[in-house]
Amino acid sequence: MMVLTKKMIEIRTILQTVGQSNALTLPSIVVIGSQSSGKSSVLEAIVGHEFLPKGSNMVTRRPIELTLVNTPDAQAEYGEFPALGLGKITDFSHIQRTLTELNLAVPDSECVSDDPIQLTISSPHVPDLSLIDLPGYIQVVGHDQPAELKQKISDLCDKYIQPPNVILAISAADVDLANSTALRASRRVDPRGERTIGVVTKMDLVDAPRGASILNDRKYPLRLGYVGVISRVPPQSSSLFKRGNGNIASAISKNEHAYFSSHPLEFGTEAGLNVGTTTLRKKLMHVLEQTMAASLQSTGDAIRQELEEATYEFKVQYNDRPLSAESYLAESLDAFKHSFKEFTENFGRPQVRELLKEELDQKVLDLLASRYWNKPVTNLSPPISEPDSLADLPTAGPESLYWHRKLDASTSALTKLGIGRLATTVVANAIQAHVDRLIAHSTFASHPFARQAITDAASGILNERFYSTSDQVENCIKPYKFEIDVEDGEWARGREHIAGVLKKELKDCEDAVKAVEQNVGGKRKLKDVMGFVDKARKGEVEVVGDGASGAGGFSSDLLQRGKEAIFLRDRAQLLRLRLSALKAPPCNTSHPSSNPNAKYACPEIFLDVVSTKLTSTAVLFLNVELLSEFFYQFPRELDVRLGRGLSKEEVERFAREDPRVRGHLEVIRRKELLELVLGKMEGLRDLNVEERGRRKLD
Ligand code: GDP
Repeated sequence: MMVLTKKMIEIRTILQTVGQSNALTLPSIVVIGSQSSGKSSVLEAIVGHEFLPKGSNMVTRRPIELTLVNTPDAQAEYGEFPALGLGKITDFSHIQRTLTELNLAVPDSECVSDDPIQLTISSPHVPDLSLIDLPGYIQVVGHDQPAELKQKISDLCDKYIQPPNVILAISAADVDLANSTALRASRRVDPRGERTIGVVTKMDLVDAPRGASILNDRKYPLRLGYVGVISRVPPQSSSLFKRGNGNIASAISKNEHAYFSSHPLEFGTEAGLNVGTTTLRKKLMHVLEQTMAASLQSTGDAIRQELEEATYEFKVQYNDRPLSAESYLAESLDAFKHSFKEFTENFGRPQVRELLKEELDQKVLDLLASRYWNKPVTNLSPPISEPDSLADLPTAGPESLYWHRKLDASTSALTKLGIGRLATTVVANAIQAHVDRLIAHSTFASHPFARQAITDAASGILNERFYSTSDQVENCIKPYKFEIDVEDGEWARGREHIAGVLKKELKDCEDAVKAVEQNVGGKRKLKDVMGFVDKARKGEVEVVGDGASGAGGFSSDLLQRGKEAIFLRDRAQLLRLRLSALKAPPCNTSHPSSNPNAKYACPEIFLDVVSTKLTSTAVLFLNVELLSEFFYQFPRELDVRLGRGLSKEEVERFAREDPRVRGHLEVIRRKELLELVLGKMEGLRDLNVEERGRRKLD
């Protein structure tokens, strides 16, 4: 009963997923032979299909780890390249092409690569075997081949023909065995011929007595013996099989049978020689099974040792804490949703109002600056006309059309700013920024994939809500574009608020002057240059050109700073003027409704009242259209994108993005697989002991 090899091959497949360490390698049959010795033909005869790269110039450049899996209950024959994920390939010429491509992909400079190609062939007609095909030894390096090729191939083969592997040494009958490179190589590592099977191919090319004498070779006796084969597909059936993709094994064995039975003297039962591919297959199965049995103990020990290491690592590094990719994701997602919930509780109407009002305060300041406070200091020549004197403002009477128009235009500019868009953008940006902050403080911070998914979830909802929200808001503030009534309370609050805004602006101006002072190297120096610029603007000093290359002994850069400082000084002065105006009549009226001119005299207050009204209305709709919707949809969207919407592989990939989590998961997986393998191994050992016991009894 040949179950051991099959089970061991299964175990090896598991071990490979653990990241096989050398100690865990199970024995294989390693196939070596010179080029053209018939090595490929032997392997193909065993498999029953032509699948190896051919062609005069085709040198196998990578080892092929060939696993044959006997599938007694299945009809289909197919190959799989586990590392390539091409699925089951039933067309063997496709396998051949793939192998050719893989070989050709090794750059010429490397000659050969020791990175093996893994290929599994499953079929009801193959035995359970693990074979490694190596590049054929070459005698003479071709003119188009690198000089070191010969040595590299030989080194590669040496790596593989070490114990516990079984060596399948292929030699052709028409070449003197003493010259067989394969046998010479095997003798070096297996001098007593204990783990080498000699295969003599092309038995049909020598006469029968000579063939028989080769198989009887006594110069290099092998415990596992020699087998003579004729593994070439008989010429008459070869094209037929190629076309039909059919199994070549029986054609070969029929052909062999015909030949060997026609020489009963040399190859009959009496002669006691091993001939034929069928015999070879049986021998391989038997030898591998025995080798596997012999390695049970050592492999078991190696696995136990690995398991101990994994267990130790799990305890010391991860405190024996269980973890799975799914549980890690679920915990991370829960924590994130929790922090989002906290955010929603602290980000409501008051916060949105403040955010928006601040934005509109800035817009009001911009309007005031451009329409009321515009005193640009852009050149050094005297201004063409005096700027409007804000000092007149408090006395702007009903007849002062100039100030009326200014306020109307400013108000209109404010209400027609595109409040809908602006407000929605401000709030959407704030939400997105908060989400980004939540991500940065969550476990997702170290997961690019999840980070992206969350950001996309947020921006997806925000984008989807954007236009309807912005339209709604714009619609609702529409009445303010036509008429604005100011109530007494609103006026008082507006006056207080805008005074605060102006004070802050004043402070910013003063700080900016100080910064310029430091920048130019002191108060005194700045004063000098400001004095010069002032004089130039009043026409008291002559400046040639625009001062671009300096003037009055000051560099152009310095002059620029001077202009800046003067601008800031004037702005500060103006702000002080307006701040005191806000405290005086008519701004400090408690009944603006009975003083229709108050708003023209105090545009700051009026514009602030307008911006407050705009803000309140916008907030109302932003809250319903954007905030509530977002707070409702976002966690659900997260569930889709990071929860049930993910496949098992994606969850796994996600968890592995974090190196520590990856390490943790890997050690757990390793431990589990090794435990599984060890369990299987122990079962096998019992089976093996039982088997041996039974054989003894028999
Ligand atoms: P490799 O280079 O060692 O893989 O050798 P191949 O299997 O490609 O065989 C080399 C050549 O020998 C091919 O033309 C085969 O058809 C031929 N060949 C292989 N085995 C036999 C055999 O048993 N008898 C005969 N007559 N030719 C064979």
